[in-house]
Amino acid sequence: MTITPIMPVYQRCGVRPVRGDGAYLWSEGGEKYLDMAAGIAVNILGHSHPAIVKAIADQAATLMHCSNLYGMPLGDELAQRLVDKTFADTMFFTNSGAEAIDCAIKTARRYHYANGQPERHRIISFSNAFHGRTLGAISATDQPKMRDGFEPLLPGFTVLPFNDLAAVEAAIGPDCAGILVEPVQGEGGVSVGTPDFITGLRRLCDEHGLLLIFDEVQCGYCRTGTFFAYEQYGITPDIMAVAKGIGGGFPLGACLVTEEAAKGMVVGTHGSTYGGNPLGMAVGLAVLDIVGTEEFLAEVRRLGDRLRASLEQLIPNHDHLFEEVRGLGLMLGLKLKPGAEARDFVAHVRDEHHLLLVSASDNVVRILPPLNIEDSHIAECIEKLSAGARSFPVKEAA
Ligand SMILES: *Cc1c(COP(=O)(O)O)cnc(C)c1O
Repeated sequence: MTITPIMPVYQRCGVRPVRGDGAYLWSEGGEKYLDMAAGIAVNILGHSHPAIVKAIADQAATLMHCSNLYGMPLGDELAQRLVDKTFADTMFFTNSGAEAIDCAIKTARRYHYANGQPERHRIISFSNAFHGRTLGAISATDQPKMRDGFEPLLPGFTVLPFNDLAAVEAAIGPDCAGILVEPVQGEGGVSVGTPDFITGLRRLCDEHGLLLIFDEVQCGYCRTGTFFAYEQYGITPDIMAVAKGIGGGFPLGACLVTEEAAKGMVVGTHGSTYGGNPLGMAVGLAVLDIVGTEEFLAEVRRLGDRLRASLEQLIPNHDHLFEEVRGLGLMLGLKLKPGAEARDFVAHVRDEHHLLLVSASDNVVRILPPLNIEDSHIAECIEKLSAGARSFPVKEAA
């Protein structure tokens, strides 16, 4: 037997964390790491936040799981609070981002079905997007590494270049159900949707009776300095997938929908055994208690501005290595110059300087810290990045 007991679908690094506290992780061997990746934008309150720990412990001792066949007081409360804070009128709770995306796709198709137009099933999505790994979510991408060998996938997707409104306009036809987009692409390289593109998608959806579906699994939940990224564009989607930050580390997601767009999702059309379980809802409420305030968001914006400014100051000192800073709030990307691989640089600062970052497409290093970090963590991150840049061997660009 040479296969590992865990299916080998990940290229795992040598760091094996066993404990976390705030912005730090400790590995099996006792080494300490500054975690500026936060489980890929998940641990928005850092590791082992006392409010999350308490919510889990108290709720686990009270009621952990209960079927969706019963009323859900905690779920009603969390859903109502999210309805009050967003464009949405209703939502479906999931355990992950991909499940929220699948629910979004089903909701969009079912909307047109309920309107007597079942032929409207096609979803427009974008290259370099990442929506998760279910068959539905990979059908919405054009990346061979995710799709090859899994075909036939779900029919009815058209993948177009990101930030190209004319391409979308040209592709819309009578079979279209909606447009699925990350307003800020995460895995794709921290690419921010331009205001013209995002507001243009809203306009095209309105003109053609399509539903606008946002994937804010990574960029939502305060990450970009507003509760959701859509707020910064002055428009609202009809459907939105949320996960990652919403549970602060507990597996939790949601598909948020307007009343109109949810009209097809009637009794019996969708479900989940664990979705909306009391334990997840208790954590969701505890996280929202902390992050759902204007003061929290103002601090995210202040920290984001500070981190961004510090990163920008690094560029001239290491201009053989760093090309530009991208992103919004505390969703930041550092694009490397040709000759340096983002993946190699992430491994270098991890192994040599105990700084955890995460790479993305387009040769970008992502910096996605907990949203409650302190100025001292930013200073430490910049010191480590600077030291890492000095010691990183760059090949001569061809
Ligand atoms: C992580 C992510 C997903 C998938 O979430 P899972 O919880 O891994 O299923 C979907 N969309 C975006 C934008 C993501 O970053």
